[in-house]
Amino acid sequence: MTTVDLPLLPLGRGKDLDAERGVECPGDLPAASDPDLVARATAAKAALGSRVFVLGHHYQRDEVIQFADVTGDSFKLARDAAARPDAEFIVFCGVHFMAESADILTAPEQKVILPDLAAGCSMADMARLAQVEDAWAALTEAGVADQVVPVTYMNSSADIKAFCGKHDGAVCTSSNADVALEWAFAQKPDAKVLFLPDQHLGRNTAVLQMGIALDECVVWDPRQPNGGLTVEQLRDAKMILWKGHCSVHGRFSPDVIDELRAKVPDLNVLVHPECQHEVVLKADLVGSTEFIIKQIEKAPAGSSWAIGTELNLVKRLADAHPELNIMFLDRNVCYCSTMNRIDLPHLVWTLESLVNGEVPNVIEVDPDTEHWAKVALDRMLALPGKSHKD
Ligand code: SF4
Repeated sequence: MTTVDLPLLPLGRGKDLDAERGVECPGDLPAASDPDLVARATAAKAALGSRVFVLGHHYQRDEVIQFADVTGDSFKLARDAAARPDAEFIVFCGVHFMAESADILTAPEQKVILPDLAAGCSMADMARLAQVEDAWAALTEAGVADQVVPVTYMNSSADIKAFCGKHDGAVCTSSNADVALEWAFAQKPDAKVLFLPDQHLGRNTAVLQMGIALDECVVWDPRQPNGGLTVEQLRDAKMILWKGHCSVHGRFSPDVIDELRAKVPDLNVLVHPECQHEVVLKADLVGSTEFIIKQIEKAPAGSSWAIGTELNLVKRLADAHPELNIMFLDRNVCYCSTMNRIDLPHLVWTLESLVNGEVPNVIEVDPDTEHWAKVALDRMLALPGKSHKD
């Protein structure tokens, strides 16, 4: 049987392999699930007690977040899980690559569970191992691979992290991408970085934090022969950015910033570095989800904020801070549709299955991939300075 390297999202559906990639804007957040499920989730979680630890990513729905033992970004959650070795089951309310990272960082006997296996990430799906291996072969052919240090964003599959581990590279988060790049450029004479899979985080960090010129950044398009680049372009580049992006953060556009600034006096524009470079250039503040939350928590009453990150988080911040004027930085209401696959029915099904002695949807990274991914993660953890929060 031939193994086909398909992205995760279509698994179990088999209809339209290009569908469900998190790009629809349905107009509002999904409706809340049947409220009776709240009592069932509460009962199942109580029955499991300390055997279960529920992690909730910031972009999850309110109906799921209420059952989270901890909330955070992907890396914080993986570390929180590792700090709870007594928990038999780690229920990860987030997306697939996050559950993989939790599996890598937790003890072998702990089971990491993703309540819906189709909760993938369109950005992580944009860099497949076979594509990255092809790119590496082309870089070798062009005579530049010896100079290249691969760095992958946390938002990538375990096999891409393992690829970086094997090729003397590292993982980074949106908080420490600058430190990771500094480290990477110090690894080899005339080093170049292959940055996976988010071109925007790579470009924003390289240009705005490292002072690298825009024209020293080239984009490797895995769908084009030789990435769509000439050997000369590869030789001249400092940053080889993988052509991937987040389908939520990639939507924000600079004209909406202009429009809102014209309407709202003293507007503060706060965006995530996964946004396009043109958006980041126009923003007042740029940072990770944890940074965004901190800025809002310390904002003076009466101040106005347009926030460019996932809608569930923006709405939750607006609800928690009625003293602020918080708005979403997009004309259309758009959330991460894959994150939102984890809903109360899936959570109840997961918890009740565990109560009944069944362990569903276990995410298990194979030992070789886990070893090399951990090498890349450990290199990140050894980086100096900053906290490693995403
Ligand atoms: S918000 Fe973007 S990066 Fe995060 S899971 Fe959704 S598609 Fe992936």
